[in-house]
Amino acid sequence: MNNSIPGFIDPHKLAKTGQALQDKVAVADLNRAKKLLSSESGEIKYQLVFTTDAEGYCVISGKLGSILTVRCQRCLKEFQQSIESDFVVSPVNDDAGAKALPSSYEAVYTADGKLYPIELIEDELILALPIVPLHEFDSPECVALTKAQEAGSDFANPFRVLQDINVNKNSQQAEDK
Ligand SMILES: [Zn+2]
Repeated sequence: MNNSIPGFIDPHKLAKTGQALQDKVAVADLNRAKKLLSSESGEIKYQLVFTTDAEGYCVISGKLGSILTVRCQRCLKEFQQSIESDFVVSPVNDDAGAKALPSSYEAVYTADGKLYPIELIEDELILALPIVPLHEFDSPECVALTKAQEAGSDFANPFRVLQDINVNKNSQQAEDK
């Protein structure tokens, strides 16, 4: 899929003129992030605004938004998860540069002062993804499927073990009373 995301950019140059990049990137083009999703469909809307703060730091204020397909780790069914992320980063060349940054900025490493925006977008997307995707608690769909699985025999669900432990603990407590 084509997208107009630029290759390497010079963030300092864009900051000097207060430029912004905004567009969409296909999930299928994000090799690391797509491995964490259950479908490669969908796209990420992004906005990166380049500015220079009062102390002369180059600042990139970013926003991401997407609706992605993930797999619920309770019922193992796919669902659509809305992802929104806001971040503020400052480009640095090395660890010394990162250490010198004010704490309000996250460091983003550049190669010879150049930044590859798709890498930044992908890193921030990965940070925004849920570590364990789950339907909302008590979602009727999720509950129904879990019950169906319980009725079935050998459905491999790692969370069943935990559930069983909890059930046993609860019934033990009930007996103790
Ligand atoms: Zn579920």
